[in-house]
Amino acid sequence: MPKSRSTQPQQRPTHTHGADVLVIGSGAAGLSVALHLAEHAKVIVLSKGALTEGSTWYAQGGIAAVLDDADSTESHVKDTLDAGAGLCHKEAVEFTVSRSKGAIEWLVGLGVDFTRSEAGEFHLTREGGHSHRRIIHSADATGRAVHSGLLGQALKHPNIELLESRVAIDLIRQPDPMSATLRCVGAYVLDKTQDHIECFTAKAVVLATGGASKVYLYSSNPDSASGDGIAMAWRAGCRVANMEFNQFHPTCLYHPKAKSFLITEALRGEGAVLKRPDGERFMPAFHPAAELAPRDVVARAIDHEMKRLGAPCMYLDISHRSAEFLQNHFPTVKDQCLKFGIDITQEPIPVVPAAHYTCGGVMVNTLGQTDLAQLYAVGETSFTGLHGANRMASNSLLECIVYAQSTAEDIRQRLATTPDPAPCKPWDESQATDSDEDIVIYHNWDEIRRCMWDYVGIVRTQKRLERALRRIELLQTEIQEYYTNYKISSDLLELRNLAMVAELIIRSAKIRKESRGLHYSLDYPHLSDSAQDTLLVPANLASQPIFVR
Ligand SMILES: Cc1cc2nc3c(=O)[nH]c(=O)nc-3n(C[C@H](O)[C@H](O)[C@H](O)COP(=O)(O)OP(=O)(O)OC[C@H]3O[C@@H](n4cnc5c(N)ncnc54)[C@H](O)[C@@H]3O)c2cc1C
Repeated sequence: MPKSRSTQPQQRPTHTHGADVLVIGSGAAGLSVALHLAEHAKVIVLSKGALTEGSTWYAQGGIAAVLDDADSTESHVKDTLDAGAGLCHKEAVEFTVSRSKGAIEWLVGLGVDFTRSEAGEFHLTREGGHSHRRIIHSADATGRAVHSGLLGQALKHPNIELLESRVAIDLIRQPDPMSATLRCVGAYVLDKTQDHIECFTAKAVVLATGGASKVYLYSSNPDSASGDGIAMAWRAGCRVANMEFNQFHPTCLYHPKAKSFLITEALRGEGAVLKRPDGERFMPAFHPAAELAPRDVVARAIDHEMKRLGAPCMYLDISHRSAEFLQNHFPTVKDQCLKFGIDITQEPIPVVPAAHYTCGGVMVNTLGQTDLAQLYAVGETSFTGLHGANRMASNSLLECIVYAQSTAEDIRQRLATTPDPAPCKPWDESQATDSDEDIVIYHNWDEIRRCMWDYVGIVRTQKRLERALRRIELLQTEIQEYYTNYKISSDLLELRNLAMVAELIIRSAKIRKESRGLHYSLDYPHLSDSAQDTLLVPANLASQPIFVR
């Protein structure tokens, strides 16, 4: 509850929903937690838009798992540790990888249809950083297959209630009768269908709200990725970690109407070259492998050229391959580009790097527990220590499924001894009026995302970070004033959370005085001898946060 809003009697009562467990988010993480719990508890799952509108639905490649006899847990662990550039928590990596086969078997048992070879075996592909074929997939739309499987089961289960268009605003805390501290007992939620605020209470609350990549101007993520869970947990007094590590995909289609369409890396594998606006190729000057250099190197090179030339995008050219080859190998890219008037058989594709994955998040242990009793975080919202300074491809969906199971198990064990929450205080909107200037929201939304792109993007300097922080702090003051005085809307809530996570990212980036994994600083281009997480610790909810390492 924001301190500036009173919780005293208001004009109309706040409608209250109760359940054993409240899950905020209906992606792979949230639905998996709900399904694991449904035999033991009544679960409510909230989604701020349509139930399918999260990153899970858009995942393409697949899920990493040790399924082949020639592969081993040790090898998957080693590859993950190598990709993480010294920052992965080995116990989290071992915990996740050793449960990968079980996670896939669980999905198969739910009816998820993975691609099989002619012999009937699962077809496994190989991706960057993996030393074995271990990516199980469903053609090139794995996320959709996984999400459909999970959602189909959740919709059928009588103990799971799925509610769309419900935006969680903030978590509710009450004194914990079992200890001297506070515990989480629910959340205030905006019902977009009725345009009013409701109270959801539960014995346990799970944040499964996905990542925060929408904080950047260009992102491969759907609009839902505004870091709501991270911001809510931070405001409720939970630590967050490693927020400076944001993974950028090198090539996203640059077109005003193409919001988040990825141009697959396979195009470069088949000979596509990157060019400046004048048609000159530039990658050979950056890396001996040119266009086939690692993802972060390619993203940095594109960003460097864009900034140096003041160009809005670079170009990816595969027009030298035959139209027949492109139709056979890249029908989706070809058709999508054509929709925007770009014929890839004749002309280069305008591309920009795009924010793709949030490696940091709300600190949790292997049971998904956060710093606040009875509050859990799972999936991209959480920081488990698995990804370190750079996420290895296809480890993220695996993390969702594995941690959902351990989290659900911990919740289940505690349910019987957890007392019911006290009634929640009503939400007071009696002083709030309708906004007469919605332009403030849209302007600030753009300003945050552009500021983050220009100053806190792929290549950073301390000066740019300082500049960004000043601007974000100013915007936060303006947003808080708006939040206090005007009726709440979904856009305003997302803006408030975007500004919050932007601040957390900048503060984390300022603390890291080295270049490691996804964090690259021109002021500190070298790797430090010791690898340390960046921990941000809120002093407490009501006062100004103090940042310490
Ligand atoms: C284009 C693309 C391709 C990818 N490919 C792969 C891949 O091949 N393999 C892989 O492992 N990973 C991949 N990833 C990453 C992976 O998809 C995500 O990390 C993962 O799906 C995150 O799942 P999640 O359940 O944590 O969050 P999401 O799937 O993002 O779900 C978040 C949910 O939270 C809800 N929500 C958010 N805020 C609120 C709020 N305030 N109130 C109520 N509900 C809220 C949303 O509505 C949504 O239901 C890809 C990502 C993208 C974008």
